[in-house]
Order: sequence, then structure tokens, then C-alpha cells
Amino acid sequence: LKFCQELPKIELHAHLNGSLSDETLNKLLRRGPTNNSYASTIIGKGERRTMQEGFEMFRILHEIVVSPEIVVEVTKDVITDFALDQVKYLELRSTPRNVLSSGMTKRSYMEAVLTAIQRYREENEDRCRIDVRYLPSIDRSKSVEEAHETVKLAEEFSLSTNGNLVVGVDFSGNPHANDGADYIPPMMQARRANLHLAVHMAEVEGKKEETKKLLELLPDRIGHGTFISNEPGVRDVVLKKRIPLEVCVTSNIKTCTVPEDHTKHHFTWWRQEHQHPCIVGTDDKGIFATSLSNEYSIAAGALGLSRRETFNWSKEAIDHVFADIDTKSRLRQTWDDYWKSNL
Ligand code: 5GP
Repeated sequence: LKFCQELPKIELHAHLNGSLSDETLNKLLRRGPTNNSYASTIIGKGERRTMQEGFEMFRILHEIVVSPEIVVEVTKDVITDFALDQVKYLELRSTPRNVLSSGMTKRSYMEAVLTAIQRYREENEDRCRIDVRYLPSIDRSKSVEEAHETVKLAEEFSLSTNGNLVVGVDFSGNPHANDGADYIPPMMQARRANLHLAVHMAEVEGKKEETKKLLELLPDRIGHGTFISNEPGVRDVVLKKRIPLEVCVTSNIKTCTVPEDHTKHHFTWWRQEHQHPCIVGTDDKGIFATSLSNEYSIAAGALGLSRRETFNWSKEAIDHVFADIDTKSRLRQTWDDYWKSNL
């Protein structure tokens, strides 16, 4: 674990509100007026829960993170947590929400996330260098119309930040809700606007038809893809196109979609049988009480990787970031410098 803590890392699969630490949550709850009975449900987490129970946690978190000021604060806290875990590049995803009580709109939510990224950068210019990008999320439990609104705003903010901060769109939300294929038009709209696509799919069993349709989009990365390896029809597309999988081992175990034995997690099949690109991520480090170092330690352990192989794997993630070529070159330099000084 110590080696993984010191290793420079890339985090590409982190949902903002699921990533709040207990410290951040305690701080917010102490301020009230949020009902304190929430605290017992969400603090000291990390137990195994069903997917539905997991989504109930998000509902509670959304009742706490209700204003642009809070969004700025929690975003900065989450960036700090990742920076302290030696994450050098972070793509943070989050669903813009309208909150009537505070007057927060999807637009002011997104502005708040971007403000936090910029402020963190200004306040930490010399220390803890971390590059952060934002992927606005489409929540599949909400309407297709809302998805279009989110994509439109993503497009607008991508342009106003010269493509430097909003680099793509995430498709997530309760995998049991609605038909994922209904959200293909907004995702195509994002693609036309030069936004990358990170798409959750096949996270639960029995979604073969939906997965097939989502794959026609040729997403840039797949979130989880837990049940793809069981389905030759879809599996072959992913293998042939070498679409990277974002793997979140602890999250999958705690939401009971994979066995508890790490060596039986689907990523071992993709890596060992096909050397397929897989990117280690936390998903919701707060809810699942994990860290990216911990996820690397588990994943490298399951594959029996040496230090050099683990380093190469963390460096390989640079190939799949949504940022521009210059950022990728800078990151590769950081990795090479690290290896030279730690030989
Ligand atoms: P937020 O978008 O509010 O920052 O982060 C929480 C949201 O991310 C959840 O409401 C849900 O839409 C999405 N999310 C977080 N974890 C998962 C996951 O494991 N699977 C899916 N499909 N969506 C998730």
C-alpha cells in the first residue's frame, strides 16, 4: 500500500458527491440545519449495500450539497483529498442539479464546480500539483430533456474555457432506471460538440440489448462494464475497438455486483487474457471508504504485479485521459521523473 500511496496516479472515475470524506460531511452537518439523523446513515460508511441502498445514499448527500457555495467548498475538499493521495490528474464527474430552496440551477452548479477547480489551482500553484477537469454527468433516472440541457451547458462551458476544463460528458445514475438507449441522442449531441464520452454500462445483469445500443456510440471509455465479459456479442466489440474500461473494485464489491475475492473481479479477465486497457478508479471514495492508492494496491495484488508493472499501469492511464496532447506529455514527464528519482 505504501508504494501505491507514493505512486503518481490518474483518477478518471470519481463522482463528486460520492467522494466527500467523513471530515467534509461532518463539517457540513455541524453547521445544520440539515437533519442530523442523516449523519448516522452516511458517516462511517463503507459497508456492503445493495445498489438501491447505494443510490439512497446519494439522495441524502444531495439534500446536504444544496447551494453553489457548498458545491465550491466540497469540490475543493475533494480535489485536496485526491492531491494528497498523489493523484496528478483528476477527471471529476458530477450531475448539475436545480435546487429550488436555494435557487441553485444546473448552470450555477456547473459554474461552482469550475470556480472550485480554478480557485484550487490559484491557491496551490506551487504545492500539490494536480490537473483537474470536469465531466458533467447525465443522470439516467432523470428525463432525456434534462440530459439535453446538461449537454447544452457542457458544450457552452467547454467553449468558454477553451476546451481546457470541461472535456467530456459522463452517463451515469441508477442502472435500473429507464432505458439507457433513450439517452443516445443527447450523447450524440455531446460528441458533435467535440466532448468525449464516458458511459456507464452493463453495471448490472440483464442489460445486453441496452449495452449493444450504447456501444454503437463507440464511447471513449466504459464505466464498470461489469457484465460485458459474459456476453460474446458485446465483448468482442469492446475488445476489437479496445475501448478502455474504468474499473472500481471496492465499489463493485460493496454494491454486491461482483464476488468479494479480488482475483475474481472481471478486470483480471480483461487484463490477463487480453491485455485490455483498464483504468483503476475509486467511483465514490467517500461512500465506499476507499482511496485510489487502496484501489491500486488491491488491483495490483490481484494480478500479482511487480512495482515496475504497477508503475507502468498507472502511467498507461495517461493514454486515456480526455485532456489535450500537451497535458499528456507533461504527465508522462512527471511519471518518468518519479521513476528516475525512485529507482
Ligand atoms: P454527483 O453526480 O451528485 O456528484 O455524484 C453522485 C451521482 O453519481 C449519483 O447520484 C449517481 O447518479 C452517480 N453515481 C455515483 N456512483 C455511481 C455508480 O456506481 N454507478 C452509477 N451508474 N452511477 C453512479
